[in-house]
Amino acid sequence: MGMDNGRDPGEGAVEYTLEFFKGKGRAEIERLLAPFHNGELNDPNDKRVKRCDYCDYYFRDDSLRNNRRTCCADCKTSQKTLQTRIRRAEKAFLNPKPKKETKSDLYLWWLEYPCWANEQAMIEVGWRYERPMTLQKMDYIQAKESLYGKGNSKKKAEIIDYDGDKL
Ligand SMILES: [Zn+2]
Repeated sequence: MGMDNGRDPGEGAVEYTLEFFKGKGRAEIERLLAPFHNGELNDPNDKRVKRCDYCDYYFRDDSLRNNRRTCCADCKTSQKTLQTRIRRAEKAFLNPKPKKETKSDLYLWWLEYPCWANEQAMIEVGWRYERPMTLQKMDYIQAKESLYGKGNSKKKAEIIDYDGDKL
């Protein structure tokens, strides 16, 4: 049997195992256990012996229609839960939920002149991106202003009439 999934055999699997080894001695059981678990000892003509979809052990399906896929009710429930989880995970992977629109999405950055589609968003979010100047740069501008006055164009510094021999 599979056994790699680390699950314990369900009730139906345990029942089938006990039924199979009934009346056999310890030595024989030890010898047959591995081939039994590998399914080598099942009667190939017995369509009622199946492998449980959940616990992965063999069991005998006693249902009227021989349509069970799990060895017991517990395994059936666990298998359903597992399938639901897998389906949900697959769905989430294939159709991820659309990302919720954030205020940053309202900045139309791809336009030639990027702008905000919404003033509220601009006020709330925009300042994070349009950072104020560094203190250093502010100092630099203030220093230049005191030298040249306000405005963009440099004004010529005032020429002081000064002969050089007067104080
Ligand atoms: Zn089972």
